[in-house]
Amino acid sequence: MADIIDGKAVSAAVKEQIKEEIAREGLDIGLAVVIVGDDPASRVYVNNKKKACEFCGIKSYEYALPEDATEEELLELIDTLNGDGKVNGILVQLPLPKQLDEKKIIERISPMKDVDAFHESNVGRIMIGNYAFLPCTPAGCMELIRSTGVEVSGKECVVIGRSNIVGKPMAMLLLHENGTVTVCHSRTKDLAEVCRRADILIAAVGRANFVTADMVKEGAVVIDVGINRLENGKLCGDVKFDEVSEKAGYITPVPGGVGPMTIAMLMKNTVMAKRIQTK
Ligand code: NDP
Repeated sequence: MADIIDGKAVSAAVKEQIKEEIAREGLDIGLAVVIVGDDPASRVYVNNKKKACEFCGIKSYEYALPEDATEEELLELIDTLNGDGKVNGILVQLPLPKQLDEKKIIERISPMKDVDAFHESNVGRIMIGNYAFLPCTPAGCMELIRSTGVEVSGKECVVIGRSNIVGKPMAMLLLHENGTVTVCHSRTKDLAEVCRRADILIAAVGRANFVTADMVKEGAVVIDVGINRLENGKLCGDVKFDEVSEKAGYITPVPGGVGPMTIAMLMKNTVMAKRIQTK
């Protein structure tokens, strides 16, 4: 039976550290959170981010735009926030309504305030290994792996998913830590066989119960990034938890695994943004 990696506990420890750091140094830090429309999932994420800010001692400023906001309105808001000295980090909650070009919006955020690390220049820096910000979800996954005590160096690491926000940067972070990394996607042949090679398996697919026990090596570290809502309203990950937890060495639950870590890493990036801007 696998050890359950407690994302709530690890994230609470990270936030506690951040809170102490901010209090000790008397840092005055602000995070602007922009939400467009009224997607209920986005609203929950934004509220959780605000709560974390409050806990850590970061001021949060919410900007709620209507569902039919124009690109000009949003770009104008970002320009204002880029120039606002009390705002150290800017987060635009994704996904955006379809009339808004996400890429264009993200590129407008000042790279020094891009606490999600989605801006092209920050993504490029991650490739090279010379970065200030790491994207929150992959960085959170790395912390969870670290919490198990399992070394990444020399291990077979398999990432299922190649999105710009999870899969690709995840692969890059594992590579920086000297993992031997394979990235899988919808065209991968013999996915189960590739996954069975993994000492560390990351699932970022977006399909409920996609990873089954036959795809997992005995004793592997399994990190489940997926957040899927079932018809009964319950949340579940990409990994079939009941059967995979019988075989893996370590596994993250959903909820209570990667999700809380993503928010803790956002807090960490916001402190980093303040430091960069006051250098
Ligand atoms: P995307 O939809 O952007 O990417 C999904 C990836 O999975 C794609 O690369 C796709 O391949 C791959 N995929 C889809 N079907 C298959 C298949 N049958 N076999 C192999 N690969 C497949 O999702 P995201 O990366 O944005 O998110 C992934 C999951 O993580 C979602 O559930 C999302 O909600 C969750 N998430 C959780 C966060 C957290 O804080 N815990 C934060 C961000 C996301 P291809 O490229 O070929 O289409």
